[in-house]
Amino acid sequence: MKLNKTFKAYTLYNYKKIPQIKLLSDEDIFAIDVVSQVLPFKSNSYVIEELINWENVPDDPIFTLTFPRKDMLIPEHFEKMASLIKSRADKEDIKKAANEIRLELNPHPAGQMDHNIPSINGKRIIGMQHKYRETALFFPSQGQTCHAYCTFCFRWPQFVGIDDLKFASKEANLLKQYLQLHTETTNILFTGGDPMVMKAEILARYIEPLLTDVPNLTTIRIGTKALAYWPYKFLSDSDSFEMMELFEKIVKSGKHLAIMAHFNHPVELSTPAVKKAIKRLRSLGAEIRTQSPLLKHINDDPEIWAAMWRKQVNLGCIPYYMFVARDTGAQHYFSITLENAYNIYRKAYTKVSGVCRTVRGPSMSASPGKVQVLGVITLNGKKVFLLQFLQGRNPDWVKIPFIAEYNANATWLNDLKPAYGEKEFFWEEEYKKITRGKVEIIDED
Ligand SMILES: *Cc1c(COP(=O)(O)O)cnc(C)c1O
Ligand code: SF4
Repeated sequence: MKLNKTFKAYTLYNYKKIPQIKLLSDEDIFAIDVVSQVLPFKSNSYVIEELINWENVPDDPIFTLTFPRKDMLIPEHFEKMASLIKSRADKEDIKKAANEIRLELNPHPAGQMDHNIPSINGKRIIGMQHKYRETALFFPSQGQTCHAYCTFCFRWPQFVGIDDLKFASKEANLLKQYLQLHTETTNILFTGGDPMVMKAEILARYIEPLLTDVPNLTTIRIGTKALAYWPYKFLSDSDSFEMMELFEKIVKSGKHLAIMAHFNHPVELSTPAVKKAIKRLRSLGAEIRTQSPLLKHINDDPEIWAAMWRKQVNLGCIPYYMFVARDTGAQHYFSITLENAYNIYRKAYTKVSGVCRTVRGPSMSASPGKVQVLGVITLNGKKVFLLQFLQGRNPDWVKIPFIAEYNANATWLNDLKPAYGEKEFFWEEEYKKITRGKVEIIDED
């Protein structure tokens, strides 16, 4: 079994060289040309050759996960772009129209980039976000891309070159100082894009300093899609060995190494390469926790989730979060109502044994916190949603059940209102106080 591969990236500019593309209709190909002007597109040799089942295209879930489809833009946006391309408009006009459409796609769910950026002595640490007491996020500037792009991704503004929207930091030193000062922080989560696109040497510059003299820091997490999209990062890339050495160092230092792995579909757990990569990480002492949003056209079926959780547990991973698809980008294409999300979660949960039931969801990473839908119940003859915080801007909000008026069409927290004529949810007044005058940055999933 050959477990190495050469990374080949495909973008809007060269994807027609993919041999399998000729299996697509002219219409599907045109749609890729149109939609990828607005939403970023990138795929690679592993996704193309080992994950997509080209006999199922265009309905194959991994194809839909990585290739733009016509319906990912609303008809008005699609037609606008399509007519520019058909009329061979010049590049600048296409770019301008693309940017206008992007701005209508809520590029910054839950606000913009200002809130919760921590500072030391008045100096803001760009590239850092600290929203929940125990866990700080860090976005290394070299990790602001991915091995392939997911069509549902909410980080898409980071990939399309609207530069001022980018989080970045080269300030590993400030990161350490911050963690030393903020002893309430026990976890640091490296995120991106995908930190696993970085060379081991660069990632080590951020991580190694944290292994000494920050006793409050007990857990280093790395959020990544590399196991699903490029497992060779852990097997045969030129820096794989060094990366494994870095991971080993983390574990030997006594800190918990948690790989927060994004898997959207069981197919991503089926190749020899991903299995081997998981084994290797586990053998070093890394724990792998898994998460995914619930997405129409990709995984909106309890059987798929149950299969995914079982497979993950069999391979030694721990199911962690099921997210609600966010209110950004192609949300109209992927989103599922909160009620359906809950039903899918519950049905999937009933199909698996306790070892898979570590997974929590469906959860919305909203501005006040991570809000889980606990169910739809009838109280005093009135249907309501039962909800709770899994994480809150104020940790005291966590695990206090609260209710919202039933709304069959609700897909996000801001579609929900308090029930029984209440003016506000119990947390709202304080939430407004905390965020007054501030705008917020994109949350981590
Ligand atoms: C999800 C998230 C975390 C991590 O939360 P856990 O529940 O500890 O996994 C941290 N920060 C932000 C902003 C998040 O959205
Ligand atoms: S950040 Fe995650 S969801 Fe977005 S494109 Fe990269 S791998 Fe996909």
